[in-house]
Amino acid sequence: MKYRTLLLFGAPGAGKGTQGKSLGTVPNFFHCACGDVFRSLKTDSQIGSVFLEYSSRGELVPDQPTIDLWRYFIDGSTKTGRFHPEQDTLVLDGIPRNVHQAEMLKDALEVVAVFYLLCTKVDNLVDRLQRRALKENRLDDANIDVIRNRLKTYERESKPVLNFYGKKLLHRINADQTPAKVLVDILRHVVKV
Ligand code: ADP
Repeated sequence: MKYRTLLLFGAPGAGKGTQGKSLGTVPNFFHCACGDVFRSLKTDSQIGSVFLEYSSRGELVPDQPTIDLWRYFIDGSTKTGRFHPEQDTLVLDGIPRNVHQAEMLKDALEVVAVFYLLCTKVDNLVDRLQRRALKENRLDDANIDVIRNRLKTYERESKPVLNFYGKKLLHRINADQTPAKVLVDILRHVVKV
């Protein structure tokens, strides 16, 4: 069985997490943020330490442990009754983050829409990330060099994912707007798919 899926896509700081959390409060939508799954791990676990090693440099965690962890999280959420694959739409944020991950998830996902949150000014992204560093105690947001590296990683590795899913599924969303307006723009499409 494939999970009916909406993908939230965009640069670090574009607001995927904010929108994902909002959508996840709507009945029959289940939000999964890959970064949150990683951050919930104990840092002294094997995969937790791998996450710290890569994220603190602004790099992606290797694909196999990422996909394994994701499957484990989704299975657990299904078994504990938080996610009901038969009736729920999965809202993914932060995964797949490169084309190889998209290939690896082909058997699991039926992607019905990709929301591309576009932020026109890089300065806005950097501001948002630095504010979040203070609020959420995120090491990877605190350092400007790490932020720059994450933005580069996004351009180089993540952006090609947009082509993988193709133009038909793609919805460009102006992410310079307030979170409420961004949500309205996303929901306008969600009710149609
Ligand atoms: P942001 O919201 O800024 O895009 P995330 O919370 O999604 O950040 O991710 C933080 C870090 O976690 C990433 O920089 C990366 O190191 C790691 N990470 C999250 N998702 C993935 C993934 N799908 N593949 C590899 N690494 C990931």
